[in-house]
Amino acid sequence: PPVELPIHEAVLGHAAGFGDRPALIDGTDGTTLTYEQVDRFHRRVAAGLAAAGVRKGDVLALHSPNTIAFPTAFYAATRAGASVTTVHPLATPEEFAKQLRDSGTRWIVTVSPLLETARRAAELAGGVREMFVCDGAPGHRSLIDMLATTAPEPQPALDPVEDIAVLPYSSGTTGVPKGVMLTHRQIATNLAQLEPAAAMAPGDRILAVLPFFHIYGLTALMNAPLRKGATVVVLPRFDLETFLAAIENHRITGLYVAPPIVLALAKHPVVSEYDLSSLKYVISAAAPLDAQLARACAQRLGLPPIGQAYGMTELSPGTHVVPLDRLHAAPAGTVGKLIAGTEMRIVSLDDPAKDLAAGESGEILIRGPQVMKGYLGRPDATTAMIDADGWLHTGDVGHVDADGWLFVVDRVKELIKYKGFQVAPAELEALLLTHPGIADAAVIGTYDDDGNEVPHAFVVRHPQAAEDLTENEVLLHVAERVAPYKRVRRITFVDTVPRAASGKILRRELRDLREHP
Ligand code: ATP
Ligand code: MG
Repeated sequence: PPVELPIHEAVLGHAAGFGDRPALIDGTDGTTLTYEQVDRFHRRVAAGLAAAGVRKGDVLALHSPNTIAFPTAFYAATRAGASVTTVHPLATPEEFAKQLRDSGTRWIVTVSPLLETARRAAELAGGVREMFVCDGAPGHRSLIDMLATTAPEPQPALDPVEDIAVLPYSSGTTGVPKGVMLTHRQIATNLAQLEPAAAMAPGDRILAVLPFFHIYGLTALMNAPLRKGATVVVLPRFDLETFLAAIENHRITGLYVAPPIVLALAKHPVVSEYDLSSLKYVISAAAPLDAQLARACAQRLGLPPIGQAYGMTELSPGTHVVPLDRLHAAPAGTVGKLIAGTEMRIVSLDDPAKDLAAGESGEILIRGPQVMKGYLGRPDATTAMIDADGWLHTGDVGHVDADGWLFVVDRVKELIKYKGFQVAPAELEALLLTHPGIADAAVIGTYDDDGNEVPHAFVVRHPQAAEDLTENEVLLHVAERVAPYKRVRRITFVDTVPRAASGKILRRELRDLREHP
């Protein structure tokens, strides 16, 4: 059943009871916040924000890299009644201003290293009443000042069904970023739906390296860890050696990552120099993960098979997950089973009214209490995504097996149509990565001289392979392993594959690269 609680209650409702257990640890310098501190701090800061004028329904932009103060700012804002729009810490002033304007933001919480960007963005956008700085900066009220406030704790009359808790902007992988309205109930319900798959307890230590501004990274601050007395070790960005050192030093037990990190763990030579024996499991989500790569990673680390989860910002965010107690039982490559209280259909790409049988691939449709309220200020985009019967059209292609395990093939829009056949870039990317000389790869459709769309691979050579790896060798590696229509027809060697912070390949940048090399 839907959970009708504000998210700060759903997540931190039991925090005080965990007392001086560590809730958050800064993975770079070891600074620790206990559960009692997180509970007290976020209530005090909520009082400070309310005293400064923050009211129910105001939009507050949280502009910060991952820090241990982030959850205090986040839950203080929702406790004061605000809707939080999370901002990419690397956004330019122009990009940030666009989000401020689109969301109608009235308040900004930033950090001193980003203050200039925030100031410039607020100037460009207009409408911002005040900027607070987490760690303090001259001329601005800080969250630290608010810890000393004597103002009473705010009691906004939040309606979990209607009020927006979080307003993340979708990744913009396929188009312009849109504000996704997620209510308190949608998020609180999704937490409860996902929880049985990954029961956590005091003593568990999760490494939070994915960015909190993205909903998948943010779940590290919502899911079982902070609800269940576990500890979240926070890193500001992904750097392989810092990441490995943090796992070793903090005896991390569980990792929630995206495929590029699985790739690094499977292939990078430096991994074997660290003691990663505390790890019990790795879960990957946000983008396609090849089964062979997952196996190589698990074998190298001596772990059970890597589990996957599937979701999207518009789904608060998860609908499928491989439960931790089924890691061995789940078939290779699956993104998991449908969570409770949610319905799924797989429909024909040619005829959305036609449901497909197990084993047949089509578009994934989802209906349930976690489907977003809509895109802010874009009723047309909302109705294009959620039909009159409440089904959200994910834009992803997949199929289920006879036991209900879901397999995601690719995005509908990214399928390459080669002479009438459909080719999934994700499958070719996975195959390319199995070549020892290839460090990374991405595939898009480009047009040959006759106007046919063909699979075009962008390949990063492994440092050790250097110039040895030839175009022909790559073409052959694929051609020997796939049906003729799926063959890669063109290769471009590149230094890196452009990716979003969430690990997704930015295919439009590859397209630009192709047009303006
Ligand atoms: P935008 O909608 O702005 O173009 P986006 O779709 O990349 O951006 P997100 O909501 O962050 O924004 O990502 C959701 C998408 O990520 C899903 O629709 C799906 O394509 C992909 N995805 C998530 N989990 C998995 C997974 N386990 N395997 C394959 N793809 C996944
Ligand atoms: Mg999307």
